Amino acid sequence: MKLKISVIVPIYNEEGNIKTLYEKIKTTFQKISSSYEVIFIDDGSYDNSLNILRPISKKDNHIKIISFSRNFGHMPAITAGLVHSKGEKVVVMDADLQDPPHIIEKMYKKSLQGYDVVYGVKRKRKESFVRKFLFKSFYKLFDKISFLKMPIDAGTFSILDRKIVNIIIDLPEKNKYFSGLRAWTGFKQTGVIYERSKRYAGNEASFSRLFKLAMDGIVSFSFVPLRIASILGFIFSGFAFVLIVILFILKFFINLGIMGWTSTISSILFMGGVQLITLGIIGEYLARIYDEVKKRPEYLIHQKIGFH
Ligand code: UDP
Ligand code: MG
Repeated sequence: MKLKISVIVPIYNEEGNIKTLYEKIKTTFQKISSSYEVIFIDDGSYDNSLNILRPISKKDNHIKIISFSRNFGHMPAITAGLVHSKGEKVVVMDADLQDPPHIIEKMYKKSLQGYDVVYGVKRKRKESFVRKFLFKSFYKLFDKISFLKMPIDAGTFSILDRKIVNIIIDLPEKNKYFSGLRAWTGFKQTGVIYERSKRYAGNEASFSRLFKLAMDGIVSFSFVPLRIASILGFIFSGFAFVLIVILFILKFFINLGIMGWTSTISSILFMGGVQLITLGIIGEYLARIYDEVKKRPEYLIHQKIGFH
């Protein structure tokens, strides 16, 4: 008999959340189906997460664990989960209970109406003002500059049909931006609104991790930053040309003697800044191309537990 649903949960130092999450998932599936598996991907946690997971997997054979050799990141953990999942439908969710397990029932029902992807749309975010503002700005910016139309406020929490899962697994690219690729596949997609609560236990993602994620999203789905670099180039060349003409006129027709130290220094500094920024933008793309061509695996598995 085919397995109905797989749930994929990346785990990075989630010792305070695992038990509650497990109980909630179990209760949820009592209402949905007994044909399910939960795959926890331990992404190199250095707290007690793995020690908490092991006995759970031992006594409940729905529970499987993949443990990485070190920390590889949220997206590689999701990929490993997708690769090892067997379900006809696959749920991707965070471990910190920000994605409430009971919403899975709603998503699953919706997916049975013929939707290949049902994603969670975050309605109220119970997060700090700064984070809310940054997330909103990112979604807005992404919407404006990407060549992909992605639903606003949809994160990783979603249920995918096997067909979509197989497409994403087979993609050769390594820096996978999950919510983007999910939208990229197309097919029939819809959203389910849910309230995103605060992290249950543990610390929120650092701004540097969020910044990297935002960069991954933008760089993999937009060439606008590169175009901005060339547009800036044109604008400043135009300026420079006009300025050169003016300066020549001043020099040969109205001789004002030696002048312009301030303007020279300011333009050097200003142009230096613009050049470094544009180099940085090119660097963001280049680094990712370099990373892709090295073709190193996305993750290394140390141990698999509970796979029968
Ligand atoms: N996570 C992971 N590897 C990492 C960082 C995070 O597997 O290097 C997991 C984490 O355990 C959680 C999910 O990814 O289940 C989302 O992480 P987090 O809650 O920190 O991100 P946020 O909700 O702030 O986007
Ligand atoms: Mg979280």
